[in-house]
Amino acid sequence: MNDIILLKQGEIVLKGLNRKYFEQKLISNIKQRLRSFGEFKIHWSQSTIYVEPENDNCDMEGAFEAMKKVFGIVSLSRAMACEKEPEAIFRAAKAYLVDAMNSSASFKVETKRADKRFPMTSIELSQYVGGRLAAAFPHIKVDVHNPELLVNLEVHDRAAYVHSAPHGGAGGMPVGSNGRAVTLLSGGIDSPVSSYMIAKRGVKLIPVHFFSFPYTSQQAKEKVIELARILTAYCGRLTLEIVPFTKIQEEIGRNCPEEFFTIIMRRFMMRISERIALSNGCKALVTGENLGQVASQTMEAMAVTEECVSLPVLRPLIGFDKEEIVRLARQIGTFETSILPYEDCCTVFTPRHPRTKPRLRDVIAAEAGLDIEALVEEAFNGIERIRLEP
Ligand code: ATP
Ligand code: MG
Repeated sequence: MNDIILLKQGEIVLKGLNRKYFEQKLISNIKQRLRSFGEFKIHWSQSTIYVEPENDNCDMEGAFEAMKKVFGIVSLSRAMACEKEPEAIFRAAKAYLVDAMNSSASFKVETKRADKRFPMTSIELSQYVGGRLAAAFPHIKVDVHNPELLVNLEVHDRAAYVHSAPHGGAGGMPVGSNGRAVTLLSGGIDSPVSSYMIAKRGVKLIPVHFFSFPYTSQQAKEKVIELARILTAYCGRLTLEIVPFTKIQEEIGRNCPEEFFTIIMRRFMMRISERIALSNGCKALVTGENLGQVASQTMEAMAVTEECVSLPVLRPLIGFDKEEIVRLARQIGTFETSILPYEDCCTVFTPRHPRTKPRLRDVIAAEAGLDIEALVEEAFNGIERIRLEP
């Protein structure tokens, strides 16, 4: 039970006086994410967080995988704790890394010494343990320039730790440390990625989906719920807000010129999202829009889309190529769900010839036949909320 997970904090160490605040957010996110893997003891010193299992029932593998998705952690390793004594450190390294040592051709030992009272320097300890390991595994060479296996030793206040090369963490900043935003989550490829990117900057998200049953199917809704569920691995607990959108689309279809259907629909999405944002203390709206991707994503169309709200609209994918978005979607695990064939905002209402350069006054004139306030109010009052746990 000396198996332990070491987490290294990222950017937050730069935050000076706010550091405590960032650290507390990070620790509470870590605790929330560990809950389903057993009971753990968590403590931290300097920029390392130690996650220790309380008993043998802990799922260390699962916990480690979960920690790779927590924003605010730059790197992480599974390690073996041992007494702060050279012989004990050698024995721990020998036992813990036996498989890795047996399957590698060369190795090197690197030491970090946070406890400056430890009687050996970092170099001395590396040399001592390296020499003992070389004698214990005669087939493997020491190679200080290009080792196949890096043996890491860390000497901290409470104990020493042995581990092999650390894994990259999710980076970014702890969720909740940079305020809240509403994210517009469709069933497509882009919006889960834009949500991920803003969450990565420390923002707590409220995902909102506009649902047009029966024009879009129950399966389309399940797909969005699944996407939000995948995002909880990064964002923590989420409450997905599902807005009934059918009536608004039908009203637009009945009362507005076809060429403006999409842009008017998008303006309703913005108004309702802003309403949700303001009632939840959110400071921005997030979309997966991407310059030039479709008619509603020209600069002119985006200007008209956001004109009806005053919160800033964040579009983290604005300058990405589709390939780059797809790569990220695969990396975060949303791609396979996003490409399931259930259509989002019904093709029934897609104009054959959308305006790519709409003028605001034309769009406002086109909306004149609608009771905007009442439609927004009714949709807002009909929201269904689905709570999702990591
Ligand atoms: P995505 O892949 O995210 O669906 P897209 O390329 O299909 O994006 P649009 O359909 O024009 O582009 O939507 C642009 C953005 O508007 C989406 O990224 C999303 O943020 C938001 N959006 C679109 N449809 C919905 C919806 N039904 N519910 C919530 N947000 C939506
Ligand atoms: Mg879409």
